Amino acid sequence: MKVAILGGGPSGAFAAERLASAGVKTILLDEKLAWEKPCGGGLTWKAYSQYPFLTCDSTPHKIVRETVLAAPNSVSVSLKLDNPLLIYSRFDLNNLLLKRAEKAGAQVEKTRVIGADRTAAGWKLKTKNGDIEADRCIVATGARNPLRQLGTELTASDAMSALGYYVPSNRERIDIQFLPGLEGYIWVFPRCGHLSVGICGKGTTAQVLRQRLERYMDEQSIPRKDATFYCHLLPALDTPAWKRNRVAGDGWLATGDAAGLVDPITGEGLYYAMRSADLAAQSILSDPADELGTAYRKSIRKDFVGDLEFGSRLAHRVFHGKFLFGAVTSRMVQFTRLSPRFRDVMQDLFEGSQPYLGLKRRLFKNLNWSLLEIVCNLGFGRIIPRREPAA
Ligand SMILES: Cc1cc2nc3c(=O)[nH]c(=O)nc-3n(C[C@H](O)[C@H](O)[C@H](O)COP(=O)(O)OP(=O)(O)OC[C@H]3O[C@@H](n4cnc5c(N)ncnc54)[C@H](O)[C@@H]3O)c2cc1C
Repeated sequence: MKVAILGGGPSGAFAAERLASAGVKTILLDEKLAWEKPCGGGLTWKAYSQYPFLTCDSTPHKIVRETVLAAPNSVSVSLKLDNPLLIYSRFDLNNLLLKRAEKAGAQVEKTRVIGADRTAAGWKLKTKNGDIEADRCIVATGARNPLRQLGTELTASDAMSALGYYVPSNRERIDIQFLPGLEGYIWVFPRCGHLSVGICGKGTTAQVLRQRLERYMDEQSIPRKDATFYCHLLPALDTPAWKRNRVAGDGWLATGDAAGLVDPITGEGLYYAMRSADLAAQSILSDPADELGTAYRKSIRKDFVGDLEFGSRLAHRVFHGKFLFGAVTSRMVQFTRLSPRFRDVMQDLFEGSQPYLGLKRRLFKNLNWSLLEIVCNLGFGRIIPRREPAA
């Protein structure tokens, strides 16, 4: 069997490695190969505990053990991470994964795929370098997938705009800033030799997001001189979209962003890009006759799609909800500062060891203790603001 992988980002490259190392004839097609795809580049414990080569490799990456969370009307809080975040430049990460695919025996070709036709024998792929035939296809062309009939269909309510700057500077911590009314957040990720400073948001124009980000950078004295601007699309599927999501069809499987497989709250996509690639390769290897990708659909749902779908239900409440008369994001920051138990939950969420399914149960189980810790640390009067006296 010959498998063609369309797109050589983390998802395509990892699928190619998995298939080629199992002896499957694999060709990977990417128009750019390794490139600085707009991204924070952050990999959580969830990713590197599953794929430990991400920590062992000599490819430059930053190891970050502190995240500072900030929200309106709250004093910011520093969250220490027992399991740090790894931050790669995307050029380096893509290059690492593509090299591993090549070493495993995959044929890697730099070309743009301009069409994909299903034939009686399999697939005929039109590329800038000519036609290529294959028995199966893995579609890993990212959030801006140009092959409309394959992969997820992102509507406006299923994606965030994400943009930012690469700023030549150094730092050791991550900053996360929540903003009033924004379904998204600002991040400052330290990388080797520069920062990735960005903003993502749903239902807000890129222009408005850019203004908000630039205001933040000015307030934080992060210079834009010599900084490089970036902009991209970030899948953030709404709850109904998970039900109709196209992740597989006749002779094809879609992985990573091309399948919409991104955490709708945090925007984490690198882990899901690699994990879905892994599961796609496993499903092809375990049942080559499963042309409709039934096994793949089942395995991603069991593995993480159920959790992401539940995350999509929480997203609106997290960014727009109120708790104890204040914004949920502000309460999150305050509770993290005042309650060690709540801080543990946040830490596990950041590391990726606390799934969304089960979060509510854990929060309720801890609620009395967390509130007690908060009351002891602060006093109730400052958590629930008093009504302003009538003028
Ligand atoms: C601003 C921003 C910040 C982010 N920060 C983080 C983060 O910190 N941590 C995290 O986990 N996730 C983050 N994400 C999400 C993450 O970047 C994606 O989930 C991840 O890149 C998905 O990998 P992929 O391989 O599916 O797609 P991509 O990385 O987009 O790769 C797709 C590849 O397909 C190629 N391609 C596309 N069309 C064609 C074609 N027609 N022919 C040939 N090749 C083609 C492209 O050249 C590209 O190399 C961020 C996203 C954005 C936009």
